[in-house]
Amino acid sequence: MSISLDGKRVLITGGTRGIGRAIALAMAKAGAGVVVCGRTGGAAAETLAAELAEIGVKHAVTTADVTDPEAVTALIETCREQLGGLDVVVTSAGSISHVPYAKMDFEQWRAVMSSNLDGTHLVVQGSLPLLAEGSSIVLIGSAVASKGLPLRAHYTAAKSALVGYSRSLAKELGGKARVNVVEPGVIDTDQAAGLTPEQRARYEGMTALGRLGTPGDIADVVLFYASDHARYVTGTTLKVDGGM
Ligand code: NDP
Repeated sequence: MSISLDGKRVLITGGTRGIGRAIALAMAKAGAGVVVCGRTGGAAAETLAAELAEIGVKHAVTTADVTDPEAVTALIETCREQLGGLDVVVTSAGSISHVPYAKMDFEQWRAVMSSNLDGTHLVVQGSLPLLAEGSSIVLIGSAVASKGLPLRAHYTAAKSALVGYSRSLAKELGGKARVNVVEPGVIDTDQAAGLTPEQRARYEGMTALGRLGTPGDIADVVLFYASDHARYVTGTTLKVDGGM
């Protein structure tokens, strides 16, 4: 199935690296205009802007910490200026840390809750005035949210919260915007590059498909949710984890 996003106007947070970057590039290749933010900018942002320019779609790559309300206001303003409105919002920005729960200080808890949950709320709520009727909001959760994982109590709490949040929002927004969650399994991004061969083999062995996911595996599913092929799909959560 070939998916066209011709004429769609898309905001992707956390889109300069990893999964978000693959989503931004896939959306642009499908014909969408994109505004992409990362937290720090730098080389990743510069190379992404160059790749988007080569694809030839309307685009802006900017810096915005999604946990900062003022930065999010500026990000939304960039969408208004560059794209004139929004049809798709993808929230991929999020951070993780590995901390024994008994030793997790409140700052560590807040940092992970804030980037994954507060940031999603700020971006989605801020986008509402720009959203066209029939828009699509795709939240990047995590497949471990419903499984649990030692040392990630804060992360799984935040990603689980996205599911309840999406269910309420889907019902509240109705036909204005579909709201869905995509939950990646273990994906071969910068983080996975730090795995030992034994760890990698263990994660691969946990999947039915016998391999880690690629950012492109996630981007293809997000593309579907963003497109009119998913016009009757809202309030869902889909694990894209190779069958863990
Ligand atoms: P990466 O660490 O590779 O990239 C994260 C991206 O998000 C970067 O562009 C980063 O910008 C940006 N970002 C982080 N925090 C903020 C913030 N506060 N404000 C704005 N941008 C921010 O992440 P992944 O691609 O691995 O993960 C993307 C999403 O997928 C996350 O929500 C993650 O929880 C989820 N996920 C990932 C899995 C995996 O195996 N990789 C598995 C399951 C879920 P900068 O570089 O400037 O900091």
